[in-house]
Amino acid sequence: MKENNQELMEKIIAVAKSRGFVYPGSLIYGGLAGSFDFGPYGLKLKENITKLWWKMFVDDREDMLGVDCAIIMNPKVWEASGHVSGFADPLENGEKFNVMFKTSVGAGEEAITSYLRPETAQGIFVNFKNIIDSFHPKLPFGMAQIGKAFRNEIAPREWLFRKREFEQMEVEYFTKKEDWEKNFENWREIMQSFAKALGLDKVHELEVKEPAHYSKRTIDFEFDYPFGRRELWGLAYRTDFDLQAHTTSSGIDLSYFDEESGERFIPHVIEPSLGVDRTMFAVLISAYTEDELGGETRNYFKFPKEIAPIRAAVFPLLKNKPELVSKAREVYQMLRKEIPNIIFDDNGNIGKRYRRQDEIGTPACVTIDFDTLGENNDLLDTVTLRDRDTGEQKRVAIKDLRDNI
Ligand code: ATP
Repeated sequence: MKENNQELMEKIIAVAKSRGFVYPGSLIYGGLAGSFDFGPYGLKLKENITKLWWKMFVDDREDMLGVDCAIIMNPKVWEASGHVSGFADPLENGEKFNVMFKTSVGAGEEAITSYLRPETAQGIFVNFKNIIDSFHPKLPFGMAQIGKAFRNEIAPREWLFRKREFEQMEVEYFTKKEDWEKNFENWREIMQSFAKALGLDKVHELEVKEPAHYSKRTIDFEFDYPFGRRELWGLAYRTDFDLQAHTTSSGIDLSYFDEESGERFIPHVIEPSLGVDRTMFAVLISAYTEDELGGETRNYFKFPKEIAPIRAAVFPLLKNKPELVSKAREVYQMLRKEIPNIIFDDNGNIGKRYRRQDEIGTPACVTIDFDTLGENNDLLDTVTLRDRDTGEQKRVAIKDLRDNI
């Protein structure tokens, strides 16, 4: 763990705000508890994290299908899933408070009460039959979704940790009952690989002693936040609870026919459930670094390059020399065709630009100078490539830049 203190948290919240990662929601009106807005770099970071998740959990496999389901569903879904009767936290007086956000759907007397979904999982379960009918997938297979979820948390707190509106990345993986353990293990490993790819300091697994009513086994993936070790993600064996419950409630048979054995049964489910916001928070904490470089103290985000909001910044050494600017723009245009998230920057002097890029965690800076233009013949068409973490600079041929960024 880094510093277990309030100070680190305050520093990160301040940098995240001043540098355009995370703003308190509705700030000009005094904010709203549990509500935050992402600025341009927060959005990029989120995009890169969710893309990496989709790649590792969906696209790199042959047994996954993606969906994007409605946030407002038929309220019967939430009755069947147990959320209407049981998704409640205790208030101070011990009374139970259901944390689903109620909303009214339709006008006048036609209006019915429904809810903003408190998890993305149910959208997947209610589409199970649609997917079977359209794609005829063989077990085991999974469905994946990234989307917003809403919980009227009694005490939203700790910045991105407990929000009232947050985002989830969820998989429901359908398997034969007898295969649940090996699939559970497989997803556990993928979750650990994802943590590694994000550069998260060790993520601790906690075997949950009393899992939720629908689960036979749950592992919490915990992370050391500045306020203590808390749940980052969950992995649950949900048994056949949800598909059974929806079969009973809807009267629609959600069983699967296994051609090999000639048997019909309700599949069992393994669910890796990952919160985007808690992940972003953990990534920001893990990446935040303070050190000394060239006699000056600095702070920067040591993001792995795959998720850094800006992958590389391209500069002309001087902004008032048209020949430098036009060569720099040429290099910038070339790079951005091949690599996402490249920016051009000619504000202030080079030192300031490095500082600014360090602060937002840009792994590489490319400077076009007079040598690039051939002032020193040996260096024609080479640039300075500066590394964020070491501050080291090396000369690289423009044609080799792509492989070095
Ligand atoms: P907690 O016990 O901390 O309230 P939970 O066990 O209710 O969390 P789950 O229902 O398992 O959470 O939700 C799956 C994931 O969604 C969590 O691991 C977390 O990453 C994320 N998540 C849940 N609630 C919130 C929230 N209020 N704000 C941000 N992320 C959340």
